[in-house]
Amino acid sequence: MLPVIGITANFDAENHRTTLSTDYSRAVERAGGIPLIIPILDEPDRAEAILDHIHGLILTGGVDLDPSYFGENPHPKLGRVSPERDRVEIPLAQAALSRKLPLLGICRGIQLLNVAAGGTLYQDINSQAKDPLKHYQEAPRWFPSHEVKLDLATRTGKIHGVKALRVNSFHHQAVSRVAPGFIVTAWAADGIIEGIERPDDPFTIGVQWHPEGMWEKDARFLALFTALVEAAQTYARS
Ligand code: MN
Repeated sequence: MLPVIGITANFDAENHRTTLSTDYSRAVERAGGIPLIIPILDEPDRAEAILDHIHGLILTGGVDLDPSYFGENPHPKLGRVSPERDRVEIPLAQAALSRKLPLLGICRGIQLLNVAAGGTLYQDINSQAKDPLKHYQEAPRWFPSHEVKLDLATRTGKIHGVKALRVNSFHHQAVSRVAPGFIVTAWAADGIIEGIERPDDPFTIGVQWHPEGMWEKDARFLALFTALVEAAQTYARS
């Protein structure tokens, strides 16, 4: 049986549309899984019931997180938020964490994962972090614009098998205080956290870059999806 990977989506409130780049679902397919897009729900309690039907979860990129989820007021440079997404995705992530469902957070997804587990964010790197480099590239999606250092002792490091990797970068927020139980797996040269994982779990990983936007140009970036699908396969059998 092929494992089913749930994928969260953007919500276009104005036009009542669920939207998502096909880069995510195609990466899951290529990695050997079945992608299943999770929409906004009117009843967030049903998010947990969705987990009964999937074997892995991807928390995708998108707009900023509402800082009230980590106990802060909005900074003037906070961008657009989606209360509808937060309301579904925070409990979804918490329920996935508690059942140790294989989980990959990408961009907004790593941030959401960190906040759902009790960590905090920089609401705006450029005004809150010291001497930041350019984290919102104006180069094409696939272009690796800055380097990250990977800790080879971590699962994320082992999946990539290299100490340094150039990645794309489309974020102005980032992990600030790392959630309890999580460790940092990747850093940019300015010290901004680019990867976290919870080492006690089979597969709970977040990355700040967008591997789904890179794998077609550079097959090394499919590795996270392949590892997620493998972990989902194991989860499905257990
Ligand atoms: Mn970056």
